Amino acid sequence: MAAGANEVGVELLLSGEYEAVFCAVRPPGHHAERDRAMGFCIFNNVAVAAVKALSMGVERVFIVDFDAHHGNGTEHIFYNTPRVFYFSTHQYPFYPGTGSEKENNDHILNVPMREGSGDAEFKSVYSGIFREAVRKFKPQIILVSAGYDLHRDDPLTSLEVTDDGVEFIVREIVNAGRELSVPLLFTLEGGYNLNALRRCSRRTLEVLTESI
Ligand SMILES: [Zn+2]
Repeated sequence: MAAGANEVGVELLLSGEYEAVFCAVRPPGHHAERDRAMGFCIFNNVAVAAVKALSMGVERVFIVDFDAHHGNGTEHIFYNTPRVFYFSTHQYPFYPGTGSEKENNDHILNVPMREGSGDAEFKSVYSGIFREAVRKFKPQIILVSAGYDLHRDDPLTSLEVTDDGVEFIVREIVNAGRELSVPLLFTLEGGYNLNALRRCSRRTLEVLTESI
């Protein structure tokens, strides 16, 4: 159902019925590889969404992944697919071990973040290198692996991003989409402090609603 929600979300966006979709799904997906479940993830939901968009005629899909963990599955699935750009910020070194800058190519852009990185570091990345990457790639749809485990209250990770920091990231993503007039699909990834997850999901919805 999580993977299917992502497919339906893409259909709704490409039909022009909606400008933005938020898939409030469990389980998450970005660790799942093409042929195997991994790290709480069964199917790679955002990859399913990307493939759906490509199959419906979209030429360039941009995936942005701000989950605290690297989306190894998403990177591997599209490693040789230049029509899909994968941008990820994640705590590094950390689970699952992938996500170094050495893995980058012309459509894979890992920005590893040190343990303890907070709002200032994330703001600089999302207002800078992220926005430049979207402008250069000119996607026709933006998919977001929205993992709220980057929050400082998350029990599994060691990043120090606050509610305001999360909102800043979401605004940069929404503005990147607005600049190119492309639809946005957010899909839930991690987030293990339920209060932080609730607050940050809500802020995301508020930003999305404002932008319409
Ligand atoms: Zn995560």
